[in-house]
Amino acid sequence: MTETAIELVGVNKWFGDFHVLKDIDLTVGAGQKVVICGPSGSGKSTVVRCINRLEKHQKGTIRVNGTELRGDAQTIAAIRSEVGMVFQQFNLFPHLTVLDNLMLGPVKARGLTRAEAEKTARHYLARVHIPDQADKYPGQLSGGQQQRVAIARSLCMEPRVLLFDEPTSALDPEMISEVLDVMIELALDGMTMVVVTHEMGFARKVADQMVFMDAGEIVERGAPEEVFAAPKSDRCRKFLSQIL
Ligand code: ADP
Ligand code: MG
Repeated sequence: MTETAIELVGVNKWFGDFHVLKDIDLTVGAGQKVVICGPSGSGKSTVVRCINRLEKHQKGTIRVNGTELRGDAQTIAAIRSEVGMVFQQFNLFPHLTVLDNLMLGPVKARGLTRAEAEKTARHYLARVHIPDQADKYPGQLSGGQQQRVAIARSLCMEPRVLLFDEPTSALDPEMISEVLDVMIELALDGMTMVVVTHEMGFARKVADQMVFMDAGEIVERGAPEEVFAAPKSDRCRKFLSQIL
């Protein structure tokens, strides 16, 4: 039996009076890849942000590697050390070199020496195919390279799970595939991944489970080939017809 990496049961969240997540149930096994799609404003970012506690849910349970996500600082720190996140807008420090961006977390949060952190950083820079960019500043790199640095930065923390929130949406079209290729390699290596994306080619290649959200609900889920071939709901069919 596959170990469960992430489990959401009956998760609800409100922003003030606005019911943004409605009874979300989601199970991600260790090594599985889940792709979440759906219209803008449907709650996709909020779901992934709740998984590493960038947002707080008010009802239901979230467990990550068996630990229930509660409000105490110790649990939050433990979850953050196991769950990496890659954002649409890279979020690199512009005044630090690529190498220093990658070394910061491991030195501050994981207690590595600078020498150890540099070794780890160079290892993951090579893994995202830009070993020669270590001494540049983020502003000197293309968007696709910056996003690969952001992925390497997450990997330097040795996470057990990686969350991606529309990682290619801010990129020029010609740079999308270089980022998706790195994500596909991670997927094939067995990383547990939850990916919010509208890149349906990526979903077809790697997703074990596709989830379609609309208005704060999971409206449909299944293997990608099932969801693409025969969406059960009108909302999902309409959405797919707009993006495919
Ligand atoms: P998606 O990622 O699917 O586009 P989000 O999860 O970002 O959707 O947002 C879902 C809904 O919640 C949207 O209507 C958005 O405006 C609202 N929302 C998101 N963040 C906040 C916030 N911090 N405060 C109030 N409303 C928010
Ligand atoms: Mg979003």
